[in-house]
Amino acid sequence: MIPYGRQYIDGLDIQAVVEVLQSDWLTTGPKVTEFEQAVADYVGVHYGVAVSSGTAALHCAMFALAIGPGDEVIVPPMTFAATANCVLFQGGKPVFADVEPETLLIDPDQVEAKISDRTKAIMAVDYTGQPCDYGRLREIADRHGLALVADGCHALGAEYQGRRVGSLADMTVFSFHPVKHIATGEGGMIVTDNPEFSRRLKLFRNHGISTDFRQREEQGSWFYEMTDLGYNYRLSDIQCALGVSQLKKLPGFLERRREIARRYDEAFGELESVSPLKVNPEVRHAYHLYVIKWQEKGKGKGKPRSRTEVFQALRQGGLGVNVHYIPVHLHPFYRQRFGTGPGLCPAAEGAYEQILSLPLFPGMTDQEVREALEICTRIFQSQTSG
Ligand SMILES: *Cc1c(COP(=O)(O)O)cnc(C)c1O
Repeated sequence: MIPYGRQYIDGLDIQAVVEVLQSDWLTTGPKVTEFEQAVADYVGVHYGVAVSSGTAALHCAMFALAIGPGDEVIVPPMTFAATANCVLFQGGKPVFADVEPETLLIDPDQVEAKISDRTKAIMAVDYTGQPCDYGRLREIADRHGLALVADGCHALGAEYQGRRVGSLADMTVFSFHPVKHIATGEGGMIVTDNPEFSRRLKLFRNHGISTDFRQREEQGSWFYEMTDLGYNYRLSDIQCALGVSQLKKLPGFLERRREIARRYDEAFGELESVSPLKVNPEVRHAYHLYVIKWQEKGKGKGKPRSRTEVFQALRQGGLGVNVHYIPVHLHPFYRQRFGTGPGLCPAAEGAYEQILSLPLFPGMTDQEVREALEICTRIFQSQTSG
């Protein structure tokens, strides 16, 4: 089975981890600072704060904004549940704004329609690795005095009007889960240009304590104060060393992801029942995912094949295809807690019936790409199950 995503680890990565294991610091040492600076430099901002996962990074961002009970944060439904859950972690309320049907990115008009006097922030999700319309989102956020946070977990290395994701919002969150662009096992980071946000993020990841162990070592002091309630969301030096090593390979990873996406684009251009998502001209896509929409056409005899049938046929054919995502507002938890459900975000709900994510990862060999194309084309061409 060719999976939809997989990490790429080489000898240099292994070497980097082994060196940390032989050093004085296994956690909160020099590799954390080095990784934070390397990611911040790469995206073009001042501060990076490494944490234990993308989800922890989202939680930290909500704390930095002081989101609390009574506050609303506007989120898209076409995302991983953590994007909305983080608002709830802090006692706020996620409010769903529908996506644009062709890109499945949050629709700025829908955002504007959902703003109330309780709204504190807008969360943009660069779904599949395509940056949102940051021009309009920034303008709306500024006009209403809201913070703009980017869940860039799909989009490390993506660009909007020549600027990298990470430099387009007040805070941007990345994940280093093995299926994402670079891997640290589990891991995440928040990047920002705002020194006060950076300070609050660091506080929150370490129990709300204002200095860390290494700083106290250097100052020869035992004294610390807990000034807020925080968590242990630290990322270890072992993981950060892997991150530093992986980041060096990111340009090559992106090139390979874009090349595979181009091959899929070319192969599916002619097929009537398959349409790749639209890519806006002002972006450079980072292709965390390659998502197509399957349209039931059903020419000739028999009944048209549904997306679910196509999904099963591809799985049986040896492709680890997936569906990203079940719209968050359709999950039982959200339905029960907030009374959300079908009809709230029709574009996301309609797309959910059609989408499929195809295998795409930098270590995918030419042979695997050929195989994937062959299986897809064969299955996509037979439009009916009769
Ligand atoms: C992966 C992902 C997350 C969560 O990241 P973890 O590191 O798995 O906690 C959040 N949002 C989106 C859009 C993601 O893809």
